[in-house]
Amino acid sequence: MRVDILTMFPDTFSCYFNESILKRAQKKKLLAIRVHDLRRWTADRHKTVDDRPYGGGPGMIMKVEPFYRAVAALKRKAKITAKRDPVRGSEKRKASVRVILTSAKGKQFTQADARRLAHYQRIIILCGRYEGVDERVADSIADEELSIGPYVLTGGELPAMVVVDALSRHIPGVLGHPESLEEKRHASC
Ligand code: SAM
Repeated sequence: MRVDILTMFPDTFSCYFNESILKRAQKKKLLAIRVHDLRRWTADRHKTVDDRPYGGGPGMIMKVEPFYRAVAALKRKAKITAKRDPVRGSEKRKASVRVILTSAKGKQFTQADARRLAHYQRIIILCGRYEGVDERVADSIADEELSIGPYVLTGGELPAMVVVDALSRHIPGVLGHPESLEEKRHASC
């Protein structure tokens, strides 16, 4: 599986992802994590990612355009990689991609979601900041909105780490002992 994370703060991830189980999973090539600076997909000189909310409201929100361009570029790349994948055998195979928007208003992330998401070949996680993200990101770019709990955080970076950590435990080979998943404790999830 490959996970792409789109964020304004790419430096916040390296400590967590380069330790312990996640580090080993990447070394064993079971998991590839790529953290991207969203500003790479801005079009102006100042690399602006925020804007005033359309129709008014307090504070600033994150613009739709950088997310749109970034996700389109990553999906294009995923398609090309899938076509070239000699191990999976099929020239026409499409990579299964899931785009997740981190959001305090999203569906509560559970162990069942972690298990479900581990079946995708590619996951793209969008991290919000400020007062949130332009509504069009949820409406037309993300496949789902996930919240990690009933509280509001400053940004989507911690939620992205939580989602990647939890789902990676369901990728075959990541845990030395699959019984470590402790699924029984989460039977209701
Ligand atoms: N007013 C916004 C709202 O109610 O959704 C809060 C925005 S919050 C300050 C900035 C970003 O942090 C959000 O766009 C989202 O990406 C992330 N975030 C905050 N709390 C979260 C949570 N509980 N679960 C997932 N993401 C969260």
